[in-house]
Amino acid sequence: MTNDDIDRATSAVRREERDAPVGVAVLGSTGSVGTQTLEVIAAMPERFTVVALAASRTSPLLEAQSRRFLPELVAVASESAAWDGIGELVGGPDALLTAALHPAAEIVVVATSGHAAMEPTFRAVDAGKTVALANKETIVCAGELLMPLARDRGIQIRPVDSEHSAIWQCLAGSPQRSVDRLILTASGGPFRALPAESLAQVTVAQTLSHPTWSMGGKITVDSATLMNKGLEVIEARWLFAMPLDRIDVVVHPESIVHSLVEFVDGSLLAQLGPPDMRLPIQYALTFPERIPNACPRLSLVEVAALHFEAPDLSRFPALRLAREAGEAGATYPTVLSAADDVAVDAFLGGRLRFVDIPAVADDVLAAHIPADPLTLESIAEADGWARRQAATAVRRREQRNASPSEGSGPPRS
Ligand code: MG
Repeated sequence: MTNDDIDRATSAVRREERDAPVGVAVLGSTGSVGTQTLEVIAAMPERFTVVALAASRTSPLLEAQSRRFLPELVAVASESAAWDGIGELVGGPDALLTAALHPAAEIVVVATSGHAAMEPTFRAVDAGKTVALANKETIVCAGELLMPLARDRGIQIRPVDSEHSAIWQCLAGSPQRSVDRLILTASGGPFRALPAESLAQVTVAQTLSHPTWSMGGKITVDSATLMNKGLEVIEARWLFAMPLDRIDVVVHPESIVHSLVEFVDGSLLAQLGPPDMRLPIQYALTFPERIPNACPRLSLVEVAALHFEAPDLSRFPALRLAREAGEAGATYPTVLSAADDVAVDAFLGGRLRFVDIPAVADDVLAAHIPADPLTLESIAEADGWARRQAATAVRRREQRNASPSEGSGPPRS
């Protein structure tokens, strides 16, 4: 029997075992990852069916999604009067949870941003559902609690983030003892080559023009400060049970190598592809199979050259802060993530300079007294505390930036 014969035989068995498509709940269906998830599912109607959609509010896009995918349930966090879509509409604070626990959902795609995703993710894992996780906060703040629960329930947390998907693909079930290091790649963002003195003057518009990936506003700013990469280091630590000092970051401006694994024999395995989120999303859905698709292919000849450099921690201190918060553990990663959230918001609102974003996070981390033991409640408490602290730190910096003796305020775009 050739490998092809074996492949044909196993996929024939799989198809016989399962002729009904797999039910998927998509949390955060109107966001960047959510809409791309639905694009991926639309291309594989024989394999997947959308049983529940969840978003923060009703919108023409959500209505259009419901008419296209015919979910049984549509859940929105904030209730709204008008609903012209298909499927039972539920609203209120438990809406996300209701979607995550939909009895027909075998896979829950968690593409909701922020802390709202945390409880639904835990409950979905607890209920034995496979989770495809795009939400960062859940794993950054609560990975220490989520991973043991997933192990206990025999549930797979499938990473959707391109870097973690790459590492997952490179590991391909290798035993832990054969892995030496994980290497996360970072595009370096739009200010990779900008001198330190110019960073204070960059505008919101410049920050939002990411060189390789097209993503939401918050994550694009986080990519420019490298905070996103710092949070991804913490994510990788929990997802792959790897100590932080064995997770490296390398700047790779082309975003073609999505991350690498270095094995104990010195071999490096990398996963390459065009910067297209539909690929990691599809793999998280179809694992362990790979399914042909219509996504653009990578031409190595066209790419021609790939570049790698060490990240500059003096210009991008967020990466150092994230490592420190990760090492400190407990509620420190929560505080980092929440303070960054507030600071990025203030930057996008023109109230803070780009360089103030990690500075605010640093201020809040320094004032934090961690809670013990770590629970979802203590995480929520630390999150609220960090947001209040960060708001104060933002105001302080805003005043300082506005006073003429202390230099200029945030530049206007
Ligand atoms: Mg990423």
